[in-house]
Amino acid sequence: MDFELKNFFDLDRCQLCGRCLSQCPVLGYSEDKAKAEKQKLIKGEWSEVLERCKSCFSCNCFCPNQAHPYGLILFRWFERYQKLGIPIRALSSLPVEEKNFMEFAKRDYTREERVLVEEWRKNLHSELSGREVIFVGCNGQVFPYLFNSPVFKDAVIISEPGLCCGEVYYRMGIFSRVEKLGRKLEAVYQKAKPSRVIMFCLAGYNMQKNILPKNFGIRLEPEIIYIGDWLLDRVKTGAIQFKRALNRRVAIQESCHGKALGKDFSEKPRELLRLAGAEVIDLNPCREKQICCGAADGITRFNPIDMVMGGIRQWRLAKATGADLFVPYCATCYLMLKMAGKFYPSFIPCVHYLELLTYAMGKDVVSLADKRAGKIMTKVMLSSAGRIFSRKRIHPEG
Ligand code: SF4
Ligand code: SF4
Repeated sequence: MDFELKNFFDLDRCQLCGRCLSQCPVLGYSEDKAKAEKQKLIKGEWSEVLERCKSCFSCNCFCPNQAHPYGLILFRWFERYQKLGIPIRALSSLPVEEKNFMEFAKRDYTREERVLVEEWRKNLHSELSGREVIFVGCNGQVFPYLFNSPVFKDAVIISEPGLCCGEVYYRMGIFSRVEKLGRKLEAVYQKAKPSRVIMFCLAGYNMQKNILPKNFGIRLEPEIIYIGDWLLDRVKTGAIQFKRALNRRVAIQESCHGKALGKDFSEKPRELLRLAGAEVIDLNPCREKQICCGAADGITRFNPIDMVMGGIRQWRLAKATGADLFVPYCATCYLMLKMAGKFYPSFIPCVHYLELLTYAMGKDVVSLADKRAGKIMTKVMLSSAGRIFSRKRIHPEG
């Protein structure tokens, strides 16, 4: 497939108002500067935006004309990737490459988790025609224990190493790999024929529902549903019942895809937490003004220090709220915040919202996330020690 700018950014709609770059929570340019940098990006010239953008998607929310300004930056990164590749140190954050974070998560699985993921793999290759399934992508596979919960009673969960929506590759502009992973998903769904796929992760939802079909021509046959909708339905029908109130003030870490999709999506985890008895507090800045958990901070320069510093930024915001708990609803955010938290002793527990829902349903949760995040970080650093300062660049394709 030939990738064209028009599939990512709508130039005809752009009025060159500069609002996307002046309202950007990272750049915050003056109007004149915003317009000048926008012009450079449109012309395909070098712009400092390409080295400072943190891939947070917020500019898409600020554009009054729905021109998708983030897509323009992304496309220029795609061109950079074609020309220069990516530094070899980036491999450890790419979920289907060698010695990546997933590999180290798997080595730390408990026996119970190994049984769970094997069951998910078997489900994927069983008779699924017309059935509803839950899709656990790469970030969910870092924490399989999250699914050992009454929340998923009677649900059919599917997953397999390498079955990936391609989100991280998309954020880095590695479009050829995104297309390849999308084609793999297309083939898996065509064979298994589930009728509805419930996406555990909002990034995976946005990829499978919107980005893969619209930008990459991938035809996914099942209906793609966000887990927030599925969970709220289950609460309404009584399949999920909360037996103990959370009674905690929880600060929410927004998912980049949550804010890109809008309040209808980002509100759902909040609504679930409120139904479970929590008081939900937003960080300041929040929603479309919030930058990411830190994971995407590393995309511009492929620098792990940028990621940790981004995570610490979010921890500081959480601490400033005075909340009892810091709660992400995305598993990538969870991993990133747990890793960054090792460098920022806030003394606020960080808990995934599924753990809280599980607790509210009456099941105690033994979280494995802290220990696992520490092990992943140490092993990634040790295995990548030779890569961190390497100037070698690669094209992870094939
Ligand atoms: S993606 Fe985020 S950091 Fe990048 S230009 Fe848009 S708003 Fe700014
Ligand atoms: S992309 Fe949208 S916000 Fe940015 S300059 Fe164009 S019209 Fe304005």
